[in-house]
This record gives sequence, C-alpha cells and structure tokens, in this order.
Amino acid sequence: MNCTNCGAEIKNGFIKSNNLYSHDIVELINNELGLQAKTYCDACGSELLKKAKISFENKKQEKINQMKKNRMLSEKEENERIKQIGKFKNELISDDYNLK
Ligand SMILES: [Zn+2]
Repeated sequence: MNCTNCGAEIKNGFIKSNNLYSHDIVELINNELGLQAKTYCDACGSELLKKAKISFENKKQEKINQMKKNRMLSEKEENERIKQIGKFKNELISDDYNLK
C-alpha cells in the first residue's frame, strides 16, 4: 500500500513506520490549505499538517475576536438602553412631582 499523495510506502514496522493520516486530518489539511489529495502520510503530511493547524488556529482566533467585538457592541447597546430607561424613569418621577 502506498500513499496516493506522495507514493511513499505505508508500513507499520517496529523501527521504520509510515502511517496514513486519519480521515479527519486529511480533511483538515484539505480544507485549510485548499488541497484535494485523498491521503497524506507521515512522509508528506507533517509540514502540511503544521500549516493547516496554524491556519485553523488563526481562523479560530479571528472568530473569537469577532465574537468579543460583537459582545462589546451589544454591551454598549445595553448601556445605552439602561441610560434611556433611566431617563424615562426620571421623566416619570418629574411628572409625578408636577402632579402634586
Ligand atoms: Zn504521503
């Protein structure tokens, strides 16, 4: 059996082994790096996997930053609303006061 990407022999020896990557890892590499190979192995995949992981982490970080930004925005909106309610309450209080 050989890796379809690089043609290296897949072997599971005691001293020398070359394993195919699992389906999940192959998908990760293909998704992150825009590749289309059906298999990767230890011989051809380790650099690709490193790059894919970095790309994946960067995207994750970007998402987290975006979420943080969104949360900060909604906090600002919430504060604005509280301010508005406060204003409204003050108006009600002063209306009461005027009635007396
Ligand atoms: Zn390979």
